[in-house]
Amino acid sequence: MKTRTRFAPSPTGYVHIGNIRSALFPYLLAKQNKGTFILRIEDTDQNRFVADAEAIILDTLRWLGLQWDEGVEVGGPFGPYRQTERRDHYIKWAEKLIKKGLAYADPYTPEEVQKFRQAAEKAKKPFLYRNHRPENPPKWELGMPLRFKQTKIERKYWHDEIMGDLEAGAETLDDFILIKADGLPTYNFAHIVDDAEMECTHVTRGIEYISSMANYLALYEALGLKPPIFVHMPHVMAPSGNKKLGKRDGAKSVQEYRAEGYLPEAMLNFLVMLGWNDGTTTDIFSLDDMVKQFDLTRVQRAGARFDEKRLLWLNGQWIRRTDIAKLFNYAKDFWGENGQKATDERKLEVLAGVQERLKTLGDLPTLTEYFFTTPKIDLSMITDNKFLSRFSKDELITMLEVATLKLKTTEWQTDSLQEALNQLLTETARKPAELFSLLRIAVSYAPFSPELPRTFAVLGQAESLARLQATMDALHA
Ligand code: GLU
Repeated sequence: MKTRTRFAPSPTGYVHIGNIRSALFPYLLAKQNKGTFILRIEDTDQNRFVADAEAIILDTLRWLGLQWDEGVEVGGPFGPYRQTERRDHYIKWAEKLIKKGLAYADPYTPEEVQKFRQAAEKAKKPFLYRNHRPENPPKWELGMPLRFKQTKIERKYWHDEIMGDLEAGAETLDDFILIKADGLPTYNFAHIVDDAEMECTHVTRGIEYISSMANYLALYEALGLKPPIFVHMPHVMAPSGNKKLGKRDGAKSVQEYRAEGYLPEAMLNFLVMLGWNDGTTTDIFSLDDMVKQFDLTRVQRAGARFDEKRLLWLNGQWIRRTDIAKLFNYAKDFWGENGQKATDERKLEVLAGVQERLKTLGDLPTLTEYFFTTPKIDLSMITDNKFLSRFSKDELITMLEVATLKLKTTEWQTDSLQEALNQLLTETARKPAELFSLLRIAVSYAPFSPELPRTFAVLGQAESLARLQATMDALHA
């Protein structure tokens, strides 16, 4: 059978790390089996609906390169792919159940149900709706909640590709709602209908759904459907490791990471390694590598800890590995005020100069503005510097003078610049932290910059020497 997997997000707000991992796993499963990856929008919960959330989901998936083969916007043989547009499908399946005596109208008001619940709590018993099943329910019609009727109260057994062989007791089976009073199906019902109609072979989702598995299995049986392969993914855990990752644990939405200058490659690499490795020490995986290597049997059952430092490290790695033309494209909206105005040719040169040093594209202005405009001289950056504060102004000027003399006759290329700088260390009898810090600050007045030879090379000889001179003049004044 051809592999068909799906990502079925609810448009309820921002896209988080955990959400997007729920897209990556089915994407990889589909791709490694030359199957189909489907995107279905589960928008039946009108209370949680957020207007632009769907657009954000689509945009995020495209940015990450997780293009779906079938689903919203691209279409396919089993559309529509937005649940609110599939109401008649759910009604059709609901009527089948009613006919078989496996679904019934819920005659109670929410207040009445609440009373049952309270009574159960008082008696210290778990609340089960099926204990209050009405004897003669009214004929169901749209506007009334429709419930599933559990007829086989028994223990359920099933297999999960990550979690292994599982079971759940009959006490977890209940008469859950299939169609709500607003006429829309619940997730519990809709996803089963859709997965069946869309011929999904795998259900890949968060572990929070595992507690409902007994109910789902009962419904598959009632509908006469063969259950798909289940893949429940462990939680992404907070950095502390003892609870599920939440907004308060510092995890930003994927859009925020994107806006800070994280690369999609780094994001995907980070996501795949949340609870998975390929059995070696390799930690850099492109999407193609993942398609080749990813293997569900190697996904940890325990939750994987969210470690933002690791994401930052991966981002630096990916910035270095990314082809300069592609990086230039990613960097488009990240330049500082003066960088933005420069020609593409100049920007490309500067970008190549700082590529090794960038951790996020958000660092671009700090790391590059001084290439595009003469920096404002701030002598305190020299006089307060921990390596330079012990020198008198005259000593600083002498260092700059000696350096200037040498650099005037140096061939302006990183190799020869490196060599000249090394010779200068001997000639001035200064340590690298001293001489190089001074030169670096004098040409950039930036908190950090690329290696000195590179900085000089990108600035050009005339500009570099002019800046050294300007600092000497300022120190003289
Ligand atoms: N709409 C569900 C969610 O966003 C999807 C769960 C599933 O993949 O079946 O959590």
